[in-house]
Amino acid sequence: MDFVVHVGKFPTAGETVLGSAFEMDPGGKGANQACAAGRLGGPSLQAKMIGRVGYDLFADHLKASLGADSVDVSGVHATRSEPTGVAFIWVDRAGQNSIVVAPGANNALSPRDVESLRPALMGASTALFQLETPLAFVEATLQLARSLGVRTILDPAPAQTLSPKFLGHVDILTPNETEACLLLSRPVVRIGMTEAPEIAGAIRSLGAHTVILKLGDQGCYYQDDREEWTAPAFKVDAIDTTAAGDTFNGALAVALAEGESIDRALRFANAASALSVTRRGAQLSVPKRSEVDAFLKSCAS
Ligand code: ADP
Repeated sequence: MDFVVHVGKFPTAGETVLGSAFEMDPGGKGANQACAAGRLGGPSLQAKMIGRVGYDLFADHLKASLGADSVDVSGVHATRSEPTGVAFIWVDRAGQNSIVVAPGANNALSPRDVESLRPALMGASTALFQLETPLAFVEATLQLARSLGVRTILDPAPAQTLSPKFLGHVDILTPNETEACLLLSRPVVRIGMTEAPEIAGAIRSLGAHTVILKLGDQGCYYQDDREEWTAPAFKVDAIDTTAAGDTFNGALAVALAEGESIDRALRFANAASALSVTRRGAQLSVPKRSEVDAFLKSCAS
């Protein structure tokens, strides 16, 4: 659950400042991506969330909210040992934010839980992963998904370095600019489309089969061992990029699960995330399928 407070200026240590607007929005990378898959997937697809919540006020609210977006939340279990994961976010007048995440129940997931996920993964076409749950759990689940023939997509966020063994379980790795630089242990810099082939190649040589670089208002760049694609961003008035990357990943998974070609899947993901940056909030900003289809139609005409 995201707690967002708008402030004139960030408080310094020991200082109290008065905030203006306050919003409590469902968030978290995994839940945002599940929400995007649920909202964007047509009737032929079922999105399913796997995760942990606590026994508290937020658990039912978060599950009900994902359920309303057609996500099956039967794989989201409650744990007594930890509270539901929360993020405290301050946003100042310039739109800059400062975030503290307390992962809570998400940290209760361990490799011991993985075998129980077999029924959920069997028959799935695609599984989306991110790193707000423990790495050992993610690695064991990636391995199980792979062994069942499920396509694995990893959003390597929050940014960190990852071992070649870990990356070897990933079919499609989708770093943004910061994550791409940190994966390569390089200083964080803006990546232009001209640098993208070299950066994606260097990341692929670490172990991931396919890399899609998410490049903000430039769009995205795709590279595997046979082909590369550049998909420019759609021109929109961006006001808040929260969950843009999560919307991209949910949309990408939906398009690939529907059997779309790579170039059409990248265009669909760019369109969904472009719409998300025109709206405030995390899950609040994720568009519906009908909105993305209408947007793409209006851009084609
Ligand atoms: P993250 O949210 O993970 O930092 P990005 O900022 O790269 O990732 O955004 C993910 C995707 O969202 C981009 O690849 C692009 O398709 C879309 N996007 C982000 N910012 C904009 C923007 N200003 N205009 C249009 N599309 C955008």
